[in-house]
Amino acid sequence: MKQDRIQAFRKQFFEGVSAREWRDWRWQLRHRIRDLEGLERLIPLTDDEREAVRRRRGALPVGFTPYYAALIDPDQSDDPIRKTMIPATAEFVRSPGEMADPLGEDPHSPVPGLVHTYPDKVLFLVTDFCATYCRYCTRSRMVGSGEFLPDKRMWERALEYIASHTEVRDVLLSGGDPLILSDDRLDWLLQRLHAIPHVEFLRIGTKIPAVMPQRITPDLVKMLRRYHPLFFSIHFTHPRELTAEVATACNRLADAGIPMGSQTVLLKGVNDDAETMKSLMLGLLKMRVKPYYLHQCDAVAGSAHFRTPISSGKDLIRSLHGYTTGYAVPMYMLDAPGGGGKVPLTPNYIEGREDDVVTVRNHDGRLYQYHDPA
Ligand SMILES: *Cc1c(COP(=O)(O)O)cnc(C)c1O
Repeated sequence: MKQDRIQAFRKQFFEGVSAREWRDWRWQLRHRIRDLEGLERLIPLTDDEREAVRRRRGALPVGFTPYYAALIDPDQSDDPIRKTMIPATAEFVRSPGEMADPLGEDPHSPVPGLVHTYPDKVLFLVTDFCATYCRYCTRSRMVGSGEFLPDKRMWERALEYIASHTEVRDVLLSGGDPLILSDDRLDWLLQRLHAIPHVEFLRIGTKIPAVMPQRITPDLVKMLRRYHPLFFSIHFTHPRELTAEVATACNRLADAGIPMGSQTVLLKGVNDDAETMKSLMLGLLKMRVKPYYLHQCDAVAGSAHFRTPISSGKDLIRSLHGYTTGYAVPMYMLDAPGGGGKVPLTPNYIEGREDDVVTVRNHDGRLYQYHDPA
C-alpha cells in the first residue's frame, strides 16, 4: 500500500527518474523541495502556507526530500507530516516563554559547535545542514544558515577540547544531521573520537533514517561498525514514516550491532493521540528501535501551535504503561529552559502514603497497597 504510493508519487511527479536514481541518497538531497514553486508542484497549498513561505525570513529553511514528500497526503490540509514540513504563519507568532535558544546551548558552548551542559557528555554539532527541516526545530536559530558547514578546523578545536576533558565519557554527534556528511568525513571524525581513550561511547543523533533511508547503505554501516560501542538516536515522528525503506535501513543498522533509540517530539495534531503514539512506538520496536525519549516540545520561537500541555503527554505515557510492553514506553522529558538539562516528566502513580503503607494506582485505575517501611 505505502510502497505503491511512493512509487506512484515518483512516476507522477518525477517522470523519467529511475528507481535506481530515486534510491540514491545524493539524488534525494539534490532534489529536495525547497521553495514555493517546488511545493506548489506537489501539493495544493493553503493560503496560509503560501503566505508563510513568502514571508519567511532568516534561519530555518524550507527543505525536505522527495521520498519524505511522498508520505504526505496532498489532499489533507491537516496531514501530520505536512504540518511538520510546510511553514504556517503561526511560525511568526511569538508566545510567552518562547526563546530563540530555548535550551541555553549558546552560553554552554566552550568552543564553536560543542555544547557541554552535563558533566560527562558533550553534544557535538558537526554541521548545520539537514536533509529535512522540521518546523519546530530547537536549533532553528542556526540550522541551514551555513555557519556550521563541515569544517575540519572547527572540528579540530572541538576534538582538542574533548581530548583535554577527561570527564567526557560520551560524545553525541548532532547538528544539523551528521549523516549528511560523506562516508569519508564521518569516518575521519569517528576515528578521531574513537581514538580518545576516555571517550567510552559514541552516539549519532539523526533524522535521516526516517526521512532519507537511502542514506543507510551497506558501505556506510560497514564503516560505522568499526567504531563500537556506537549508538544511534533517531528522530521519528509518525507511524506513517515506518515504510519498507525505513525497515531496510533499520535492519542494516541493527545487523551491524548498532543499538537504536528513538526520539519523538510530542506535537499537537501530529502525534498527540494515544492510537498514533501506540502505533509509532510498537512499530519502532518491530524495527528493533527502542523508544527512548518522548520530548515535550521546546519553547522555541514560533512553536506554540505545536505545543501540547504536559498533562496530555503524561496521559499518553499512562496509556502505554500497563497496556503494552515496557520496551515500547519512552521516557517523557522536558528540556529545562536556559540550560537546566533534561527532566523526566513521569506520571504520578503514587497516590499517597499512610505510615508504612504506600498506595499506588495501576494502569486501569485501581488502587493497590504496598508495605514499605520507612
Ligand atoms: C540531550 C543532550 C545530550 C544527550 O542526553 P542523553 O540524555 O544522554 O540522551 C547531551 N548533551 C546535551 C547538551 C543535550 O541536550
